[in-house]
Amino acid sequence: MAGEQLKEEDFEYQPCPLCNQKTLILTERETEVPYFGKVYLFSMTCSNCKYHMADVEAAEQKEPVKYEFEISSEEDMKVRVVKSAQATVKLPHIATITPGPAAQGYVTNIEGILNRVKYQIESAKEMEEDEEDKKKAKNLLKKILRITWGQEKQKIIIEDPSGNSAVISDKAIKVPLKVKVIEK
Ligand SMILES: [Zn+2]
Repeated sequence: MAGEQLKEEDFEYQPCPLCNQKTLILTERETEVPYFGKVYLFSMTCSNCKYHMADVEAAEQKEPVKYEFEISSEEDMKVRVVKSAQATVKLPHIATITPGPAAQGYVTNIEGILNRVKYQIESAKEMEEDEEDKKKAKNLLKKILRITWGQEKQKIIIEDPSGNSAVISDKAIKVPLKVKVIEK
């Protein structure tokens, strides 16, 4: 991603929301994502308690959005993906990345998303004691490998009520996301 980075600023000795020590480094970066626009990348890392948070935000106000994309070739691994912490990423029959307090936002590509899912399945497999579930995890990992090589097609769906997510490809289908209004 060389040459894309526009600006970076670090703020050291910030108070950590978790341990309250002034050991947090806040990093703010600006980057330009082609066909999406300027994006702010935030990250917080605490050297004391290892708290880590990262997120992305488009400079321009965006509407709630849903992207559907079919991964069908090795070339698709390079397709850029902007994923905010509010996004739900669905890989039907494989896994779902859900939003929440521990969710992270990042700019990556399809391969990066698949790698994160692969890592999650691998760590879950390590913990798994049931042989049947271990086998299921092993088969999912094989499936991801075939998708990576373009040998198997896979749909990916990203829903983001904040609009700060995108799949940057002509093949991606973008539809407005209907947001349920929850009355408090
Ligand atoms: Zn901390």
